[in-house]
Amino acid sequence: MPRAHNFNPGPAALPVQVLEEVQAELVDYAGNGLSVLEMSHRAPSFIEIYEKAEETLRDVLGIPGDYDVLFLSGGATLEFAALAMNLMRTGRAGYVVSGHFSKVAMDEGARYGEAVCLATGEGSNFSAIPTKAEIDSAIVAEVAAGGLDYVHICQNNTIYGTMFHELPETDDVPLVADVSSCFLSLPLDVERYGVIYAGAQKNAGPAGVTVVICRHDLIAQGPALGICPAYLDWRSQAMKQSMLNTPNTFGIYVCGKVFEWVKEMGGLEAMEARNRKKASMLYDVLDQSKLFRGVARPQDRSIANVTFTTNIPELDREFVSEAARAGLVGLGGHRLVGGMRASIYNAVPKASVERLCGLMKEFEELHAGSSSTE
Ligand SMILES: *Cc1c(COP(=O)(O)O)cnc(C)c1O
Repeated sequence: MPRAHNFNPGPAALPVQVLEEVQAELVDYAGNGLSVLEMSHRAPSFIEIYEKAEETLRDVLGIPGDYDVLFLSGGATLEFAALAMNLMRTGRAGYVVSGHFSKVAMDEGARYGEAVCLATGEGSNFSAIPTKAEIDSAIVAEVAAGGLDYVHICQNNTIYGTMFHELPETDDVPLVADVSSCFLSLPLDVERYGVIYAGAQKNAGPAGVTVVICRHDLIAQGPALGICPAYLDWRSQAMKQSMLNTPNTFGIYVCGKVFEWVKEMGGLEAMEARNRKKASMLYDVLDQSKLFRGVARPQDRSIANVTFTTNIPELDREFVSEAARAGLVGLGGHRLVGGMRASIYNAVPKASVERLCGLMKEFEELHAGSSSTE
């Protein structure tokens, strides 16, 4: 059985090399006579796995020493709450709403304090990111009006296929970014952020691990809110190497292997170049097509999730099922948007994207009579 061309949005494609290494080590990890799945999280062999994973990630992403790295559970969704409870010191934070998850993050923040909407892309049905000018001036105004404990953005909008190509100017206000779907897709200037977090299942590993990278001085005093559950207290998790309780040992092990794979492949610059190449192949087809059109505003297009449609729902469904028959899976758009979405994370090979481009052209020829502009 050949491997599918996997365009799933998450859990998503993992490098075959990683899967094969995991398979080879599954029953007997490094001569321990047991599997990583069966190992104590306090065992020296697991501590070594943990420390190696952190060290490789620090190396690949260039994480400065004054940032803590945590491997937690609960997904990006639980970090929406953790963020507010750890950092809402004055009780007021700003949120840019650029899609579904950023709205959920803001609503979660509003349970714990005042969550100010700085700008929203709702007017364009989230096909566009609010402009940098609009966001920057809202930040200045809100800082003057009541102060902000942080500014939150969702850097890549997995569902809508848009991404920030420029970060907002936040001055002294810490910038916090949900980077779930672009984590390790491209280099990040970690020092521009107070906190970065990502659910691993998009690009960095299996579901069940959330990477949180936070500047130490922001958490050094402990959580802002006394009600913060011990598990979500970033300071204690940092002091305890994410082992306040039993961590997702197997997930962290697989993430560590993905980090090593990224490093072997040439690091994040190489990843970005590959991802840009894959994305532009698809966007070129979309821009030339008379049947398909891209959903995201061109200057806001994501390099990780490419959203498109024929504008004819039955035809979209037909394309998705025809693709599935040809071994291309995961192309259905999110239920909030419809149409199609190709998630082209690091582990999706260029050959899969070539196959998709070919299929789109064949499909268009077959349906030459239908036009998305009619
Ligand atoms: C998938 C996703 C989420 C939700 O992640 P969970 O790990 O399921 O909580 C949040 N934000 C972004 C940008 C995502 O892509």
